[in-house]
Amino acid sequence: MKKTQLAFCFLLVGLLSSNHLARAADPAHSDQPSVAPAVAISKLKEGNGRYTSGNLQHPGQTSERRTELAKTQHPFAAILSCSDSRVPPEIVFDQGLGDLFIVRVAGNVINDEGLGSIEYSVDHLGTRLILVLGHQSCGAVDAAMKTVAAKGKAPGHIQSLVTAIKPVIESTPKGDLETTIKANVKHVVDALRTSTPILKARVDSGDVQVIGGYYSLDTGAVTFLDNK
Ligand SMILES: [Zn+2]
Repeated sequence: MKKTQLAFCFLLVGLLSSNHLARAADPAHSDQPSVAPAVAISKLKEGNGRYTSGNLQHPGQTSERRTELAKTQHPFAAILSCSDSRVPPEIVFDQGLGDLFIVRVAGNVINDEGLGSIEYSVDHLGTRLILVLGHQSCGAVDAAMKTVAAKGKAPGHIQSLVTAIKPVIESTPKGDLETTIKANVKHVVDALRTSTPILKARVDSGDVQVIGGYYSLDTGAVTFLDNK
């Protein structure tokens, strides 16, 4: 090999190594492959299937997994779900440590802190699927509907939930509770898809997918809503 060819090889190896180290040091671009949205949806569906059929695997809950995750995390999905005690995402999707990046707030409404959290998951942790998860008989949506119908005001900071859900109630005037719960999910999905500057660009490029889901308290099944 000629000297010039040899020098070129060293240069190439050097560039690749430095690039590799830079990527490894940056949690946003680590060597851990990010999970494609379609694969992430399949993982959620499979996990929910195990949950509803009573075949829970409780994956990723060992001390080995905890140790493995101590330095980094790459959750395959971010979930915005209601705080309702009957809808814990890790259980209903049969997932473990490091799998899901979760924001929970009554009525699965979006606020700045929740949005910032989801953006962090996408921008820093490489998450490419965002699921907004509503559920049957959501008390927050029910209370909001009753408060709006009575032209009243909820006590304390509960009013902030009513304020967040009110536009959905007004745009589905004849909707019953379950219709309004699903409309609220769709409303938040749309808000996330069009959120600038981070999420909209990722969604438009096809890198990130935002979908809605509805959890049945009766069956434990999650129905993925019309997600066009
Ligand atoms: Zn709820």
